[in-house]
Amino acid sequence: MNAPESLRPSLPALPPFTPHPQPGTAPRIDPGLPDGWSPGFAGLAADLEEPFTRPCDPSPLQDCSLLAVSEDAAALMGLDARELMHSPAWLALLSGNAVGRHLQSYASVYAGHQFGVFVPRLGDGRALNLGALHGWELQLKGAGQTPYARFADGRAVLRSSVREYLCSEAMHALGIPTTRALSIVASASPVLRETVETAAVVCRVAPSFLRFGHFEYFASRQRLDLLEQLVSHGVELLGCDPIASTSALPVAERAVAMLHEVARRSASMTAQWMGVGFMHGVMNTDNCSILGLTLDYGPFGFMDGFNAGHICNHSDHHGRYSFQSQPQVSLWNLSRLANALYPLVNAREPLTEALETFKSSYAQSIEGLLRKKLGLESLPEDYWSPLLDDFYALLQSQRMDHTLAFRALSHGQEQAFMNLAPDREACKSWLSRYQEAVALSLARRGLPAEQRLQQMRAINPKYVLRNWVAEEVISALRDRGDAQPLHDIASLLRSPFEEHPKFEHYASPPPDWAQHLSVSCSS
Ligand code: AMP
Ligand code: MG
Repeated sequence: MNAPESLRPSLPALPPFTPHPQPGTAPRIDPGLPDGWSPGFAGLAADLEEPFTRPCDPSPLQDCSLLAVSEDAAALMGLDARELMHSPAWLALLSGNAVGRHLQSYASVYAGHQFGVFVPRLGDGRALNLGALHGWELQLKGAGQTPYARFADGRAVLRSSVREYLCSEAMHALGIPTTRALSIVASASPVLRETVETAAVVCRVAPSFLRFGHFEYFASRQRLDLLEQLVSHGVELLGCDPIASTSALPVAERAVAMLHEVARRSASMTAQWMGVGFMHGVMNTDNCSILGLTLDYGPFGFMDGFNAGHICNHSDHHGRYSFQSQPQVSLWNLSRLANALYPLVNAREPLTEALETFKSSYAQSIEGLLRKKLGLESLPEDYWSPLLDDFYALLQSQRMDHTLAFRALSHGQEQAFMNLAPDREACKSWLSRYQEAVALSLARRGLPAEQRLQQMRAINPKYVLRNWVAEEVISALRDRGDAQPLHDIASLLRSPFEEHPKFEHYASPPPDWAQHLSVSCSS
């Protein structure tokens, strides 16, 4: 017997859709697209009442120019970056001033927990999906309003677009799973934030932009049929256990298999963030990728002087997303995904077990990573733990530069390491214990000392996208129209583990003018 209408949980109220350009509004062009395009996520069977995606055209921008195309990202799809840079058709496509013939752009719907509060409908408010090329989804960020823009303008400003473009590619070069960035287009169109700025569009690329929030949306709409479709899509994307991807298996088991894999990937991604000192800044569930990719670059940061409680997002008043909170928040976000999957599973235990996967995977990933970073892979546990704790205590008390501290150790440069601390003496006792540990570890591994250092340098970057460096790139573009620093930094960050003598200064801690740089959600 069904519960009476009055006893059923009611659906959350949703805001009205934002007026947006209808399909056919933007010019159609044929930039000579290669074979291999597909509708991507929009290819999932549609439901008229609750579609996964809605068609929407981009809105035009004035005076667009292609600032950069990532050679590596272009190559993923068999595209040639130089050809794209000089093609007016691609410029039109990548700025959202035209749509490819036969390729209807669209926005997808999702929900999410923002700073712990459930928002029943968010969606791609300023991201337009173009479809997929050879299995890579292309998405324009900042190409105008969509049905999900709510009260906002659908745009992205130059400064945040430069940060996203550079950081996506930098994270990839660091070996950290991330969405990629194909291109960045600058425009003269004004955009109002705290002041008037100019608009830009980044074309992001990923095998999928599926978020935890997609599952939360269809769970909260009580559309278990559509939730099940999303699970099948997720399982396929994740390539979980082949048995789990056969639709013959009950949906409950497929959902649990999916959660296990998402948990494993999220754990590995979060451990890598912690290892490199990366802070996402807005770890809301709508910014969490089912594929365990770093997604939605906003007020992110890399740690300069170490402070475990550092909050990189100026709008995060309570430090919910501080550096040290990230592993815990990742787990909390996964528990929101588990909650969304519950109606398909109808049992707590298998979901809780999948969440436990996160804890064990994270512990294993971070331990392995830090042992490699410090070059102490075979040090016995009873030496390792206290040495590691005291290392972080030293970084914290002396506010030592996170990137340079690991890098100095990777060169065996004790003096350079001590120079990072205002009180050099404070480093001495830790360094002498470290030297003993290194000797012990080397003896156990039978590894030549220089080879150990080489291995450390291949995992401890010299260059990360520090806020002050991003700021230099942005001000050169904004104030002088000079794109050279953008190209220099993009190329530098493609090989962050190498020495680049010409660009040595970009490895430095923030100069005085940048001590109080702040980044916020405004983008
Ligand atoms: P974010 O904090 O950037 O992850 O964005 C949260 C939500 O707000 C997402 O649904 C975004 O699409 C939407 N959003 C953010 N900025 C804008 C904007 N300028 N115009 C339209 N939607 C936006
Ligand atoms: Mg977002």
